Amino acid sequence: MWFTEAWTPNINFQVRIKEHIYSEKTPFQQLDVYDSYELGRFFTLDGIMMANEKDEFIYHEMMIHTPMSINPQIKNVLVIGGGDGGSVRELTKYSHIETIEMVEIDEAVVRACQKHFKITTTGLDDSRVTLHFEDGLNYVKKTKKVYDLIIVDSTDPIGPGEGLFTQDFYLNCERILSDNGILINQHESPYFEKEKMEMKRAHQKIKSIFKIASVYQAFIPTYPSGHWLFGFASKRYHPTRDFKGTYIHQLGYKTKYYNEEIHVASFALPNYVKEEL
Ligand code: SAM
Repeated sequence: MWFTEAWTPNINFQVRIKEHIYSEKTPFQQLDVYDSYELGRFFTLDGIMMANEKDEFIYHEMMIHTPMSINPQIKNVLVIGGGDGGSVRELTKYSHIETIEMVEIDEAVVRACQKHFKITTTGLDDSRVTLHFEDGLNYVKKTKKVYDLIIVDSTDPIGPGEGLFTQDFYLNCERILSDNGILINQHESPYFEKEKMEMKRAHQKIKSIFKIASVYQAFIPTYPSGHWLFGFASKRYHPTRDFKGTYIHQLGYKTKYYNEEIHVASFALPNYVKEEL
């Protein structure tokens, strides 16, 4: 048996699977969990790879430890999306964080991961974590709270994720961020046409709103092309000039991907990517 994801109309990504563990048509998307020979367990939304046991650490370490090393005063964090809990798991390693609010539109994703994809869910029952099951676009519009860090751990801009790539969404994120605020977003990829268009659209909007708007990269073999990007936007901090060291390691944690050199090097982009941006 094979799981197949069409990366483009002419390129498929296939994973040989042992078992199709769970399947649910939620009010928002098709949710499936598989067990495989080489990636361990993985889950998909609308047939797209979301996270797998073999390489989820890359995405979640790069998403969280990069901003957390820039501003050691981060106390209140908002995670938009992130239904598998991987971003929250990494955030809970920082004892100085006081509140973590996760706004996930689809409760079924959280419940399915808690049952069938446990690796990323270990931080969800931390006393500092509050789960809100609603649309992140509406949440940032109406909340009166102020955050030091916003993590947009979203699906691609199709279906429920579309709203999380709009000017309106980014303007509200900017509004609810503190003066030292940092916004990190899942920023698609420069390689295939579809993701490249989304990358450019998101970056145009973000850099028109934030004083500092950078892009950094990681190698995530199971996302289309493997060349994946993150957005780093801030009102004050520069992601490399204000980098003084990897804070997570000072706390005594080991990481499997993120390190001092990677933090700086990940912001060095290939020429073709810089031109596209
Ligand atoms: N790492 C994955 C990737 O890069 O595609 C994404 C991780 S996580 C599974 C993405 C989450 O965003 C999903 O659980 C999905 O339900 C959630 N989501 C999509 N649109 C949303 C919205 N408008 N508000 C809140 N959560 C949303």
